[in-house]
Amino acid sequence: MRERSPGDSCEPERARAKRTHSVLGPTADSATAGYTPRSPEQTLLYRIVGEQLESFLSRARDTGQPAPRFIEQELRAYLRCGVLAHGFLRLHCDACKLDRLVPFSCKRRGFCPSCGGRRMAETAAHLVDCVLPEVPTRQWVLTLPYPLRYRCAYNASLTSELLSAFLRALFAELRRRARDQWDIARGQCGAVTFIQRFGSALNLNVHFHTLALDGVYTYAPDVAENPRFLPLPPPSDDEVARVLSGTARRIHRLLEARADGDALAQDEPLLAHLTAASLRTRIATGPQRGERWRRLGDRVDPDESGEDPEVSPRVPAYGGMSLHAAVGVPARDRRRLERLIQYVARPPLAHDRLQKRPDGRLTIRLKTRWRDGTTHILMERSELIERLVPLIPPPRAHQVRYHGILAPCASQRDWIVPGPETEFGASQCHSPNSNSVESFSASGEVSERGSEGERNADHRADANEVARWDHPLGSAAESASRTPASFGTPATPPRRLRWAALLQRVFEVDALRCPGCGARMRLVAAIEDPAVARKILECLDLPARAPPLKPAPSSAALGPETDFADQQQQSWEFDQTPPDTDGTG
Ligand SMILES: [Zn+2]
Ligand SMILES: [Zn+2]
Repeated sequence: MRERSPGDSCEPERARAKRTHSVLGPTADSATAGYTPRSPEQTLLYRIVGEQLESFLSRARDTGQPAPRFIEQELRAYLRCGVLAHGFLRLHCDACKLDRLVPFSCKRRGFCPSCGGRRMAETAAHLVDCVLPEVPTRQWVLTLPYPLRYRCAYNASLTSELLSAFLRALFAELRRRARDQWDIARGQCGAVTFIQRFGSALNLNVHFHTLALDGVYTYAPDVAENPRFLPLPPPSDDEVARVLSGTARRIHRLLEARADGDALAQDEPLLAHLTAASLRTRIATGPQRGERWRRLGDRVDPDESGEDPEVSPRVPAYGGMSLHAAVGVPARDRRRLERLIQYVARPPLAHDRLQKRPDGRLTIRLKTRWRDGTTHILMERSELIERLVPLIPPPRAHQVRYHGILAPCASQRDWIVPGPETEFGASQCHSPNSNSVESFSASGEVSERGSEGERNADHRADANEVARWDHPLGSAAESASRTPASFGTPATPPRRLRWAALLQRVFEVDALRCPGCGARMRLVAAIEDPAVARKILECLDLPARAPPLKPAPSSAALGPETDFADQQQQSWEFDQTPPDTDGTG
């Protein structure tokens, strides 16, 4: 394996490029076409972020409230994601000599539709194949009161505690029902929860999607390896309401014991301001600052002061929270379960929901129409980034949590999870990997945290296989430590989900399948040096330079207005106007 040096001749590249291009272009025969490289720089989202980023960052800097580093990194990484000029892998087919280039992706967890879509598919496949037993499953969706959404947005430990309070209430109710129905004293429950932070209007809305086993496990004494699952009928409205009131009671006690100030407003005033505006669906910056997001639809009343337009009035609500439990999946319907997980693990924005109007402004199409008739949210181009920023989760915050019998520390977990049935066996599905891509903060977190870290490490371990192929645009140190050789000689055995297999699952194509002859392609090199990348791309007649970012206007052009600074001392006050946001995400 060898990286081409800038001095290498271009001729073989050019010859191969003709072949490569002929099968990768949009006119390729669908019978033989394999993976078609995406062109993120052609998308509207990419163009607007590239157009607005520098001006957003400089405006924040000028007013003394610079964007936090992780926010800027995420936005810049998105602009590099999938762009060949920023580096790529070269794949080669030994059978027919075809070459192809696969760009690096950002692998971020905020809003990148491509990376989010891939992670969604990976997570769903992993849970269905390796974690969730073949028993009925029910989705429980808990929305939080607005002040808690704000407090949870960048506070992972508080979020964990709220989630634990909810699951204690849920498990208590499931056990109570099992006692009534089956006369089982101590049934065991299990759940996987996705912490989603967005609503369909790109509004910040931290809420929980919990997939709970819809019943309890029980064990004969001393034969833990022979668990029995006792299903429960769908919960009645009263039973759902009881879970909700139990949750509210626990959360109330929990909050009484905590005395958090508004640390966010002190530490990161810009984030605090954008977060509060997103929660209230108000414009954060610019001349229309403070106004409500503009809704489009056939009967939208701009002054509507009703309830949450997307939450059904029949959903039990209590103390600003609501709980929805109407979606159940039968034990054998694994395909539907996977689709449900994909839905709850999806990224906040798919490309086709962002559109440009003839006047240049943007619209976000809602996934489902709100009760007030709203179908789209209208925004200025300069507002897009302020909508995206609150959706970026804080570093190292886990978005998938495991509880009860599905927690990795649960002693009987190995008898429940379907790992042994899968291709590589349970030990590989679930073994923790300390070399995970991200580190997990162990200090100051609730006790379950370590085990969650372990489980997330499992995901990352699966992702390590991905990472070898799909190099994240991480820190310079990370890049420097990754030699091209490390891509071809994995230090650990391959994981179940190869990147190519994953791509096949998402896009129905196989990246490693040679588009020319169908053989398995080989990884030749990882090109990380932009100069080398440019030379190769120029030889191949491919776009050799990344689209330039639009520079920020000079501060004189910005005028005297200070979008952020006047918010500096404003602490978060809970807006008592009715919620505009969707509850179920
Ligand atoms: Zn990405
Ligand atoms: Zn081939």
